[in-house]
Amino acid sequence: MTERYPTTVAAASAALAAGELSSAELTEAYLSRIEAVEPTVRAFLTITAERALERARRADATRRADSSPLHGVPLAIKDVICTNGVPTTCGSAILEGFVPPYDATVVERLEAAGAVSLGKLNCDEFAMGSSTETSAYHITRNPWDPERVPGGSSGGSAAVVAAGMAPASLGTDTGGSIRQPAALCGVSGLKPTYGRVSRYGLVAFGSSLDQIGPFAWTAADLALILGVIAGHDPRDGTSAPIPVPDYRAALTGEIRGLRVGVPREYFVEGMEPGVEAATREAIAALKDLGADVVEVSLPHTKYALPTYYIIAPAEASANLARYDGVRYGPREPGETMWDEIELTRGRRFGAEVRRRIMLGTYALSAGYYDAYYKRAQQVRTLIKRDFEEAFAQVDVLATPTSPTVAFKIGQKLDDPLAMYLTDVCTLPINLAGMPSLVVPCGFSEGLPVGLQLIGRPFAEETLLRTGDAYQRATDWHTRRPAL
Ligand code: GLN
Repeated sequence: MTERYPTTVAAASAALAAGELSSAELTEAYLSRIEAVEPTVRAFLTITAERALERARRADATRRADSSPLHGVPLAIKDVICTNGVPTTCGSAILEGFVPPYDATVVERLEAAGAVSLGKLNCDEFAMGSSTETSAYHITRNPWDPERVPGGSSGGSAAVVAAGMAPASLGTDTGGSIRQPAALCGVSGLKPTYGRVSRYGLVAFGSSLDQIGPFAWTAADLALILGVIAGHDPRDGTSAPIPVPDYRAALTGEIRGLRVGVPREYFVEGMEPGVEAATREAIAALKDLGADVVEVSLPHTKYALPTYYIIAPAEASANLARYDGVRYGPREPGETMWDEIELTRGRRFGAEVRRRIMLGTYALSAGYYDAYYKRAQQVRTLIKRDFEEAFAQVDVLATPTSPTVAFKIGQKLDDPLAMYLTDVCTLPINLAGMPSLVVPCGFSEGLPVGLQLIGRPFAEETLLRTGDAYQRATDWHTRRPAL
């Protein structure tokens, strides 16, 4: 890429603070980049150009010496996060034209910090998927190879950064939806600890699993954004009343003596050799930086996928019961109220969402609840215990993110199980509620590979410090697709 504008948050922030350029100029630069490459990538569902320029001018007018590092910095937001006055569709036809009357807490916090939203990003319908192909609107293409998917469900959030259309974005992660697309698009992404970031105003998928998190090129940029969006919110009962540390101060570049565990179960059968090689090289680089690397075991890993595919659909079936064509979105006309609800849900939910609702309703129904849902919750406890035992020995776990690089558009769309399997390395972390960071760590057959680092609950500082130290020693995060 040969942009003449800063492509990272840190660089943009420094240029703005130094008065080298205004937020209005920077926002215009990003809008022209969008004009040039968005027709190929299609990361956005809504572009709010006018609004962004107005906010940028306001940011310029209100800049002070102690402004937030995000002041005047453009970014974009996954379309499952509510934005006051701006359509929020969750990639679903059932929310076509829905305009929330309020902002999610994360949006409120970003705006209070002076960040400038460029618009809303495409995703799998209600964040169910791993390729962004289940969006009811259009598919998003991988900036490294437009024939391939960007991953999902936050495919738009990963692609927008990789394509240079925004220096950062927000996504959500229920089973891997930040980390897998970050890996497949060669950018960095962070799923914070469950409870670290408020979910108020996030359209719920799996309420015990969902977390909002940032995408950017570098761990250092993620630290800036996390510092703004993290923290207790009385409007989200699951947000943790734990103080937010200074994540930037944690980036010392120093990881000597850090104990890194490599769980053997994560090098799954069928993993592409190029992915395994890049991951192992990245782990070796951590060792070169002074970390102590040991092999560990998370014995219940193989149960994570079936456990997730009971719990997540069960929660989804309950959460999605509210879409009846009465309270949100358009209504399909019918003879009776029941007809209308049935027609609206039948026609406006896509195939994957209907599949999840059916799976979830079945798992929760009387007579099956104990056999499926309750049992899955019990296995979830065992999976969580695996992590607790590993973290008694090590500080961080290092694993592959996705068993494959970005796959071809259409390749897995008709094979739900193959699609579900792309998340084997990310799902267990949501079940356990741990934080997890992905950083680009190389290429396999010309396509990006991401290293996944997993930490103890609320140890985002350790993850960011490790990712940042790795990025000071490597240059994978500086590679840009030839778009
Ligand atoms: N791909 C997984 C699913 O379809 C995870 C999605 C997510 O994290 N939102 O459920």
